Amino acid sequence: MTMAEVKKAIQMVDLATQYASIKDEIDQAILGVVASSAYINGPEVKSFGEELEAYLGVKHVIPCANGTDALQIAMMALGLQPGDEVIAPSFTFVATAEVIALLGLTPVVVDVDPVTFNVDPACLEAAITPKTKAIVPVHLFGQSADMDPILDIAKRHNLYMIEDTAQAIGADYTSKSGTQKVGTFGEFGTTSFFPSKNLGCYGDGGALFTNDDTLADKARQIANHGMKVRYYHDMIGVNSRLDSIQAAVLRIKLRKLDEYNLARNKVAEYYDAAFASLPQLSAPGRQPGSSHVFHQYTLKTHEIDRDGLRAYLESEGIPAMIYYPVPLHLQKAYQDPRYNKGDFPHTENLSASVISLPIHTEMTTEQLETITGAVKTFIQNHA
Ligand SMILES: *Cc1c(COP(=O)(O)O)cnc(C)c1O
Repeated sequence: MTMAEVKKAIQMVDLATQYASIKDEIDQAILGVVASSAYINGPEVKSFGEELEAYLGVKHVIPCANGTDALQIAMMALGLQPGDEVIAPSFTFVATAEVIALLGLTPVVVDVDPVTFNVDPACLEAAITPKTKAIVPVHLFGQSADMDPILDIAKRHNLYMIEDTAQAIGADYTSKSGTQKVGTFGEFGTTSFFPSKNLGCYGDGGALFTNDDTLADKARQIANHGMKVRYYHDMIGVNSRLDSIQAAVLRIKLRKLDEYNLARNKVAEYYDAAFASLPQLSAPGRQPGSSHVFHQYTLKTHEIDRDGLRAYLESEGIPAMIYYPVPLHLQKAYQDPRYNKGDFPHTENLSASVISLPIHTEMTTEQLETITGAVKTFIQNHA
């Protein structure tokens, strides 16, 4: 390969190369569903749900159409009512605040820890009012939030917890009561199978998990138009299903999830070592007690032109992304007189200084050399 070809091949996520490595299995599974005609709620969906339950060590997995629906169904199943306050981090993807707002609940946003990027337990506790009903820790970029203090806060204030594991499926957290998969601590865990997630399908998909039989029953019913017996609707629900083709793809990829997460860790180790001596960059901070599945590898930049670095990488054929450029409380749709610029300094600082580099299961050493070389060149030329 020439240098140009190596660079051309670099992507944030290389799903085509991953597919090529499992093509025979995937093609057979997809064609099997097509031939079966069990396109909706077929045996593949049931088997995938059971296999994910076993993997996560959780009693119930309820598959649904996407990760945003999973959050919404969880909030509906918990019976949250308009006016109830739900606390979420300010530094995250919009989905959490979106469903809170759509259900007429009141989103309360709080600042994050500047090292781990996850919700700061002290900020969380400070935001609790008599109206607070639930908290949504998001396990951002692939590692658990600081769960011991968060579990303690939820218990003391009698709050529901919905863990958003869209970016951290497969990560473990060791709490005072032992090691569990993230997403199995709260009343509900939710996840997304969007193609670029660590466990991604070939379209949209999502799931909720719970250890509570009654909540599981309710969530299943809500996801299915609020009906348990066909055409008898006991509550208002939604239509949110994982389709059989996606379930068939996910069954294959679930078996490889640990291997995939390990491959991501190898990439992270390479980046950590390559940038360790550069004061202009900090490696992603690790949360004690948590493993990391590196959905993203996100650096913090110091006193360099972050957007200039991104533009330079792009000119070298290397994609890089800013997750997330605008904190929730400064998004146009979520403007709120309760919140102003400057209210969440860690989040605002992260939005201005972070950059995420390519990370996926198919990266080569040549690609990593190209990427780290280009980052170092930019920093040397702008020192
Ligand atoms: C991707 C993502 C979602 C939403 O998942 P969809 O399947 O795209 O609806 C929710 N929360 C977080 C943190 C995500 O990264």
